[in-house]
Amino acid sequence: MQSVSVLIPLALPGPYDYAVPDGLTLARGDFVRVPLGPRQVNGVVWGPGAGDVAPAKLKSVLARHDVPALRDPLMQFVDWVAAYVLAPPGLVLRQVMRVPAAFEPEKPVFGYQVSGVLPERVTPARQRVLDVLQDTPPLPATDLARLAGVSASVIKGLFEVGALVKSPLNSATAVGQPDPKLARLQLTPDQSAVATTLADAVKQQDFGVHVLDGVTGSGKTEVYFEAIARALEAERPALILLPEISLTAQFLARFERRFGCAPALWHSGLTSAERRRTWRAVAEGRVQVLVGARSALFLPWPDLGVIIVDEEHDGGFKQEDGVVYNARDMAIVRAQLTGCPVILSSATPSLETFVNARQGRYQAHRLGARHGMGELPDIALVDMRATPPARGTWLVPQILTAVEAALERGEQALLFLNRRGYAPLTICRACGHRYDCPKCDAWMVEHRFRRQLECHHCGHTRPMPETCDNCGAEDQLVACGPGVERITEEVTARFPEARTAILSSDHVGGVGGIRETIKLIADGGVDIIVGTQIVAKGHHFPKLSFVGVVDADLGLGNGDLRAAERTYQMLSQVAGRAGRETAGGRALLQTHMPDHPVLQALVSGDRDAFLAREADAREHAGMPPFGRLGAIIVSSTDHQEGLAFVMDLARKTPQHNEVRVLGPAPAPIARIRDRYRFRFLLKASRQAPLQAFISEWLSAAPRRGSIRISVDIDPYSFL
Ligand code: ADP
Ligand code: ZN
Repeated sequence: MQSVSVLIPLALPGPYDYAVPDGLTLARGDFVRVPLGPRQVNGVVWGPGAGDVAPAKLKSVLARHDVPALRDPLMQFVDWVAAYVLAPPGLVLRQVMRVPAAFEPEKPVFGYQVSGVLPERVTPARQRVLDVLQDTPPLPATDLARLAGVSASVIKGLFEVGALVKSPLNSATAVGQPDPKLARLQLTPDQSAVATTLADAVKQQDFGVHVLDGVTGSGKTEVYFEAIARALEAERPALILLPEISLTAQFLARFERRFGCAPALWHSGLTSAERRRTWRAVAEGRVQVLVGARSALFLPWPDLGVIIVDEEHDGGFKQEDGVVYNARDMAIVRAQLTGCPVILSSATPSLETFVNARQGRYQAHRLGARHGMGELPDIALVDMRATPPARGTWLVPQILTAVEAALERGEQALLFLNRRGYAPLTICRACGHRYDCPKCDAWMVEHRFRRQLECHHCGHTRPMPETCDNCGAEDQLVACGPGVERITEEVTARFPEARTAILSSDHVGGVGGIRETIKLIADGGVDIIVGTQIVAKGHHFPKLSFVGVVDADLGLGNGDLRAAERTYQMLSQVAGRAGRETAGGRALLQTHMPDHPVLQALVSGDRDAFLAREADAREHAGMPPFGRLGAIIVSSTDHQEGLAFVMDLARKTPQHNEVRVLGPAPAPIARIRDRYRFRFLLKASRQAPLQAFISEWLSAAPRRGSIRISVDIDPYSFL
């Protein structure tokens, strides 16, 4: 190629042409370094030059990186995602190129091993170092010091006297080699039938969407492990996407028991060295199984044998900022472009998945009862209008009695409330002043343990005031409503002997602290757990027998498209924590709306009837998955400017008889981080050219001033 078009991971309209200098041969997918204005940047050869610019005027590619070229399916994926979510392709490519260090030559890493020369003086510390090195390959100084329990100077000393020698470490050794045959379970006939179908799909490398549907504990994980084993045997990598990747110690331990080593990991908590190592290992085809967050879809896989989306219904798969995409849906696209099966696993499938399976677009596999002794918990409602909690408390007598009973049996109880902090609203009793965020249209949430008020939309905090901001009154501020901290306070007062732990994303020790608490709970070191949705996700607490839901109505009232579905999923997941290994697991749900269909469905356990009714309602309203939605969110630091812009945009709305535009309207949270927000909602038929409609529309009203526009295809958040 004389000239090539290079896609650069920035918000540019498309690839730019560059001349290919003599002596350099480039092909589509090559990673290159190119000049861009005064800078040098990395990019990917996207194809031959478009030829819009005279060759003499082109700048030249500077160098080709020594990294395996991107494969076609991933490049197609980048283009596909960009066109679907209406993002510049460069920004989508940036998801692939998040690890700039991956393009630099690796700094050589050395390990130490024994030379055979014995030091003259052998202190106990030195002896430990020599012992550790007896039967291991060379170790880097940090690992060696940790294993031997010595300081770095001991190692340095041994090196200086010639007792240790350095040898280069190959980073390839860092990746584990899972063994597909290691600890295979004897599957039940049911499980085995599903596992065989999945294994065949992996063997044939056919694209297809498989839904693994079964209650918590029915063996879904065990079954998809078999699909992974087949991929390993076929030497094609397996990718597992999990919604809450930093909290999956139990999952990883289980994987290791089954396959003999830990899988590779990909999530935001990795160090840059770990990212680099993993990215390179994936690109070089050395990673066989990786467990990752949504961005793992954009890793430079040379090939893929199977993609698994665990807890496919989870809202955490939707990326809400930057490139707005749903990793569950994009995993399907990725699998299709690659030609491999994708497995969606859930005990409470999303309505989209349920409908797609019912209509035969996805292949559904049902797993039956819980494996082993645990029965599904018995779920009942408590009508708070009939039996309200005692004044100034939040838990009804039935729940307190059930907690007490669990404690007496030496079992655990979980109280669930999906609200962080102490109280969602603080009011001055003297003047009625309510504490709201200076930057958002939202109340400040009290965090009593930290003695702060915090805005949950922008993160703004202030110390808890002593006097009222408005009237100066002292000791008149009252907390309204409960958060998990307040429930913890009530429980501790009521059961002072019990060991109580709180589990929410505010945990003092951060992710590490949350992990420790989860382990402590699993090991039986806690009697009562008070938690937000963090406790709902996939944890296995053997001694947990009772779940109390403090406010089952929370989330049902907000009128959002998926309110019912989400509440059902969350509550059935939380309730499902009870009785996994104990007899007689129970859940009690506090509600003011005991007749609500969602709560009735939870009690009767008739999930399919509930989903079928939800599906009918959506079909009737032309809502997803029967129709499509798109949202346009316009924001501005100036209210007038924002309003003028959306009115102008409204006047320019294109006409299409299968796309309806609702709005503009102030967003339900009309101001966040000092930006005023307006929304349009687009409602379209499944066949309507929604993306083309939006691009045509937005190109008619160029952005100006402080205006920002974001497009959300298939929105999950309506705030
Ligand atoms: P799910 O993913 O549906 O929640 P799991 O795969 O986690 O279910 O299985 C629940 C528990 O039952 C796990 O501890 C698992 O090891 C065990 N289990 C599942 N199937 C079998 C089996 N066939 N033989 C032995 N144990 C099993
Ligand atoms: Zn705020």
